Amino acid sequence: MNWSLTIGSVAGTRVRLHVTFLIFLAWIGIADYLAGGPSAAIDSLVFLLLVFLCVTLHEFGHITMARRFGVNTPQVILSPIGGIAAMERMPEKPSQELLVAIAGPLVNVAIAILLMAVFGLGLTRADFLDLEQASLAERLLVVNVMLVAFNLIPAFPMDGGRVLRALLAMTMGAPRATAVAARIGQGFAALFFVLGLLWNPILIFVGLFIYFAAGAEEQQAVFTGLAARLTAGDAMEPSPRLLTAGQPLSAAIDALLASPQKDFPVLDGAGRIAGMLDRDAMIRGLRDGSPAMAVEAVMRRCDPLPPDMPLAVAYDRMRGAGAGAEVVADAQGRVLGVLTADNVAEMMMVASARPGWRFRRG
Ligand code: ZN
Repeated sequence: MNWSLTIGSVAGTRVRLHVTFLIFLAWIGIADYLAGGPSAAIDSLVFLLLVFLCVTLHEFGHITMARRFGVNTPQVILSPIGGIAAMERMPEKPSQELLVAIAGPLVNVAIAILLMAVFGLGLTRADFLDLEQASLAERLLVVNVMLVAFNLIPAFPMDGGRVLRALLAMTMGAPRATAVAARIGQGFAALFFVLGLLWNPILIFVGLFIYFAAGAEEQQAVFTGLAARLTAGDAMEPSPRLLTAGQPLSAAIDALLASPQKDFPVLDGAGRIAGMLDRDAMIRGLRDGSPAMAVEAVMRRCDPLPPDMPLAVAYDRMRGAGAGAEVVADAQGRVLGVLTADNVAEMMMVASARPGWRFRRG
């Protein structure tokens, strides 16, 4: 259960409503019904749905720009605190990240301009901030202006934080830029927290949210920094147990049970790498085939990683293939080790505890 309902799909991106969003709508609707009757309830629900339409269009601004750089977005989730577009990744180039980050707020600028043009509204009208008296179009204009202003605050995970990071990355490199942007984001988080105590409690939650999101961004930066300076050879687990293509599956099961290793390189008759066999494939083979069948029949073809391949590239390739591990082999096809997602996660823990830790072996 993931607490979200899919309401439709636009250009390959599923639009989903989080359950809390529906509870929020029901709560507002009932409260306004009790306070002002059916017309008040309908009025505020129409307004809220239009607000979230603007939020959704904002997210599709990011999504459409990201697609131009080859980044897909499988889904976008709407919750009471806003929209979250689940992009596969952020584009690597700072200039592309900047364009993706700015595309969302630009959609709200466009909506605001459209509202002003169609309804003849201006931002200077005296009754502008008197929302009780304002028309629906005027209230939507205020919302879009606020969405732009709020999202451009330079604090992660807000768009302004990403713009700031992209601008910094153009001069100081991505890992350092993220660290600096995360510090600035956490500074804003502290400011929101204090303002929340003094003024509006909602800002306390905004502050906490930004604080933890900035921390998560920094974790990502730890990985990026680590992945940029290490190679597949530095990060692999050396001397794995090996299987041979002709061995029966039962021998592979014995090897699985005899050690914590879950992914086994498989060698051909000449001792060169032929494939990889992981635990899931062994279990499937055991269930659907027989213990006597050859390892060759259940292993997957693999694409060995050269030991000097940058870890960032190696890790992306491994994850892109949907694998939890990949073999590292030299040019002659001799197995040197296995790169696993578990080992990379452990290295991140070490790097967080000791930023200067040297992982290079030798
Ligand atoms: Zn945005």
